[in-house]
Amino acid sequence: MLLEGKRALVTGSTSGIGLAMARALAAEGANVMINGFGDKDEVKAICAELAKASGGVALHDGADLGSPAQIDKMIARCTSEIGSPEILVNNAGIQFVSPVEDFPPEKWDDIIKINLTAVFHTTRLALPEMRRRGFGRIINTASAHSLVASPNKSAYVAAKHGVAGFTKAVALETAKDGITVNCISPGYVWTKLVENQIPDTMKARDLTRDQVINDVLLAAQPTKRFVTPEEVAGLALYLCGENAGSITGANLSMDGGWTAQ
Ligand code: NAD
Repeated sequence: MLLEGKRALVTGSTSGIGLAMARALAAEGANVMINGFGDKDEVKAICAELAKASGGVALHDGADLGSPAQIDKMIARCTSEIGSPEILVNNAGIQFVSPVEDFPPEKWDDIIKINLTAVFHTTRLALPEMRRRGFGRIINTASAHSLVASPNKSAYVAAKHGVAGFTKAVALETAKDGITVNCISPGYVWTKLVENQIPDTMKARDLTRDQVINDVLLAAQPTKRFVTPEEVAGLALYLCGENAGSITGANLSMDGGWTAQ
């Protein structure tokens, strides 16, 4: 298996894209620490499934990535119970949809903390050991919104543009150390995050559910279909491999042609 015995930490991996990524890494033999919120029994079942697939270890840490102290503890726990992560996937993210003048300041703070600042903290904490080993793969789930904007998503667009810039800076700082740092920028992927923003978008733009799906979400996606979590996970897996050693500082779009327009 491609990642036999390697250690991976995937944030926000109890559902959606992160879960697909954790599954793809475990299927190639990686020991995985997953993170995120969810029903205790479901999370337990996910860990059992991942451990069975990898033949190794799979653990869950419920750190709230809005808290630097909890991030610190999660990295320490990963290091002591699995080993310092050689593969770090910064995937956790939240969304909130509102015109900027009505945007609740606490929602702005949460999005910046979870979608952007957490990426800084996990990266700074995981890097020293990656440098010592001369190997590391950092993959940040950005978004098409790291390249272009949509109305009513000011905090998310700001955070994702930040993730793309942060990725480039850290890629340059680590370029000679066997470490690659990239982001993947999906268009719309059918996950809870997308499903949950439909009611607010219906309200903000006075549209029906079907209109939001077809005229807002998929309007800019020329393929007219949602990206799948498995497609994103496949690219993440490729970035972990030997042949991806020269891909660093890249912002890889997987958006059905959205940002080609
Ligand atoms: P999701 O809601 O299915 O998954 C989000 C994950 O993050 C869950 O595991 C959740 O428990 C976790 N999470 C949320 N808040 C957290 C916190 N404070 N601390 C720790 N974990 C937390 O959503 P998804 O669509 O799979 O999103 C994953 C990533 O992909 C996000 O960064 C999102 O911005 C990005 N993304 C999604 C899409 C899309 O269309 N779904 C498109 C582009 C980028």
